[in-house]
Amino acid sequence: MARCPLCGAALKWEELVDQMVGLIGPENFKEVLKDKNAFMESLEGFVFKCPHCGEEFYGRNLPAREAEKVFDLLNEFKGSVDWENGKVRLKLTNLLALDLMLEEWDRRSKGG
Ligand SMILES: [Zn+2]
Repeated sequence: MARCPLCGAALKWEELVDQMVGLIGPENFKEVLKDKNAFMESLEGFVFKCPHCGEEFYGRNLPAREAEKVFDLLNEFKGSVDWENGKVRLKLTNLLALDLMLEEWDRRSKGG
């Protein structure tokens, strides 16, 4: 789960992506979504603002594995972003939790 490195509050991925879209603009964000490396680089160097404590931190403090899944989810679902308003429509945090749970389940059942 993504947490603020300063106050430890749980962060919602959809809100984090909203911050990115808001700052770099929908057109640039569309470009970034075409390439996973570009997305990861952009995210790692991005300065996010924690909605709880108001402090700023770099995206590299966020779990990379989740960020990669966020990239996949945004690309997988058409209409995942409301480009007109620069808002993410997907409940990324919930989808990620579900995804990670299924993965874990899969690993356990295979591991016997
Ligand atoms: Zn915080």
